Amino acid sequence: MSNANAYIALGSNIGDRRAAIESALSALDEMNGIAVVAVSDLIETAPQGPVDQPRYFNAAAALSTTLEPHGLLEAMAAIEAAHGRDRRREQRWGPRLIDLDLLLYEDRVIDRPGLTVPHPRMHLRTFVLGPLAQVAPSVVHPVLGVTIECLRDRLASRSSTEYHPTAVCSGE
Ligand code: ADP
Ligand code: MG
Repeated sequence: MSNANAYIALGSNIGDRRAAIESALSALDEMNGIAVVAVSDLIETAPQGPVDQPRYFNAAAALSTTLEPHGLLEAMAAIEAAHGRDRRREQRWGPRLIDLDLLLYEDRVIDRPGLTVPHPRMHLRTFVLGPLAQVAPSVVHPVLGVTIECLRDRLASRSSTEYHPTAVCSGE
């Protein structure tokens, strides 16, 4: 079976956030058909969205996998559950012990009820693009057609008041 490159985001804002992210990464690496190839730095970020909640730790990782996207997402959900996450009891965008999102899977574009790839909000989130740019700077977003590094710089320039002409990416 051939290996696919996939990229994930990890987040935690309850309990020992660093331990939760590290343990989710080793659980992933121990699963059949998944190898963790690279891990970004861990960054601490302010929560976004409607719910008042503690600050997050976020990271991104590069995976090599023989699983198909759905199988990979199932494996990620199993690890979330093993870390005590019970989706039935939590608010959307509320606090969580561990959140694993599938960002990119090769250059596949998937839009199904339980799985959208590329992750539909990844290009809007500094806490995703910052870590992801460390492990996949030159990977091209298959829908937007620009690199992760470019998306990160573009988002940074939008959220600052100054205009940064260098943030305009080639290929647009
Ligand atoms: P979020 O990560 O956006 O804060 P959740 O972790 O609660 O929200 O995920 C909600 C649902 O999103 C999951 O049940 C999952 O089936 C679905 N989903 C769709 N696409 C993806 C993806 N690329 N990665 C992770 N979950 C996804
Ligand atoms: Mg999620």
